[in-house]
Amino acid sequence: MNDSAKQVAMERQRQGQMKHDNRVVCDARRRHDGQPCQALSVPGKKRCKWHGGCSTGPRTVAGKLKCAANLPIRH
Ligand SMILES: [Zn+2]
Repeated sequence: MNDSAKQVAMERQRQGQMKHDNRVVCDARRRHDGQPCQALSVPGKKRCKWHGGCSTGPRTVAGKLKCAANLPIRH
């Protein structure tokens, strides 16, 4: 194996590890029993696909304002 092939292999392995590393255990509460969900999150997010991991959040300015307007008032 020459050096460049070795480098490509190492890079692939590293990316595979990164993909694996950025999945965390979802700790949203399950509806039926209130226990943590514990499914693996969507890669790069903190929640699984059932608990908002796929959500992009508000994307337009209007959507962001609407979202902020619905937050509870802090004292
Ligand atoms: Zn979950």
